[in-house]
Order: sequence, then C-alpha cells, then structure tokens
Amino acid sequence: MKLHSLSNLLAHEIVDLYSAETQIIEALPKMIDKAQNAGLKKALQEHLAVTEQQKKRLEKIHKMLKQDGSAEEELGDTKCLGMKGLIDEGKKSMNEEMEPDVMDAAIIACAQKIEHYEISGYGTARAFARELGLAEIEKLLKQTLDEEYSADDLLTSLAVGQVNDAAEEDEDDEISVKKIPAKRSTNGRSKTKAATGRTKKSASKTARKKSTSSTAKKTSTKSSSSKSRGRK
Ligand code: FE
Ligand code: ZN
Ligand code: FE
Repeated sequence: MKLHSLSNLLAHEIVDLYSAETQIIEALPKMIDKAQNAGLKKALQEHLAVTEQQKKRLEKIHKMLKQDGSAEEELGDTKCLGMKGLIDEGKKSMNEEMEPDVMDAAIIACAQKIEHYEISGYGTARAFARELGLAEIEKLLKQTLDEEYSADDLLTSLAVGQVNDAAEEDEDDEISVKKIPAKRSTNGRSKTKAATGRTKKSASKTARKKSTSSTAKKTSTKSSSSKSRGRK
C-alpha cells in the first residue's frame, strides 16, 4: 500500500483506529466481568456504550474520506497491532491469580494504557484533519478525543480514590501496588465498603483533587499536557 498524501495517511489512521475500537469492544466484556468495584464496573460498561458510538463515528469519517478519494483501504483491512499488544498484555494480567482489589487495580492499569493509546491516535488524526482543513472530520475526531480524556480521568479518580488503596490493603510480599495517599479518614473502612460504598465515590473526588502522590501527578501532568496539545 502506498500513501501518497496526508489525506491518505489520515484515512489509514482512521482504518487503524477502527480496528482498535473493534478490539476494545471485544475486550471490554471480560474486563467488566472481572471488575469487582461497582464504580469501575459501571465506568467500563458506560465506556463500552461510548465506544460503540465512536466506532460508528469512524465509519462516518471513513465514508467521507472515501467520497473525496482519500481512503483506499476498507474498514477491516488493517489490524491495529498496538491495540492488540495492549489487550494481550491486559488479558495476560487478568489471567493471573489476584485478590479482587488487586485485580481491579490491574484492570484500571490496562484500561488506562488503552485510553492513552487512543488519545495519541485520535490526537494525531485530529491534527491531520485540521491540517487538511477537514472541519467536519476534525469535529468528529475531537468529540471522540474528549470522550477518551473523560474516560481516562474517571479511571484516574477511581484508582486514586479507592481501588489502589484497597489493593494496598491486600498487599503481601509478592504483590506490590504503589499506595496513593489520600487525605481522608480511613476509620473503620473495610474492603467490601471500599468496593461498594456510595460515600467513597464522592470521597474519591476530593481525594483526587487533594492527592499529591507522584503517580497521580504524573498522570495528570501527562494528560493535561496532551490535552492542551489536543485541544488547541
Ligand atoms: Fe475509544
Ligand atoms: Zn495501530
Ligand atoms: Fe476509549
């Protein structure tokens, strides 16, 4: 396959992203099934529905690029190997024997790698569309990009607010999950409460804002720098 122009390259990226979203739709049910934390389960379920829409958006974009002659590849022609690798890694980790809370932390880690990869892919595609003056396509890509940022932010707040904390309680010498200190009372907190408590959810928001941990900082710096790049 020869890519003659930036519009050909954009079309190729769209086909690649389409494959990525398709693989995510296939992979999410297992992650939802394995997730214990109610908030995490719900977040993944909602993202599955959002992902179906993103896939439709890519079909629309591909159609537009076909009409103007930019798309030579068909949807399904390319398998996104980057996404395949991330999903394979996630599957491998989910097949390990883990305490439920640690499994939740592993699922979030996998899901965030996926989100970051998508943010990178959509950010690039959107920049190409802008460069080419394809306003409608740029708008559609930005819509998805914003959804991926939100998904990533939600996963960060879940991890910072409860999941990593709960996983740390399970810690023994074999499994080490970095503790993210959250400034809130831990009085009388049980594992089951941490996983399901409604109050924990709102507490997690506060904890996320107040968190000074290096992991949380790293994540937010990363996403805010890519945010400003992606949202110019
Ligand atoms: Fe997506
Ligand atoms: Zn790819
Ligand atoms: Fe996503």
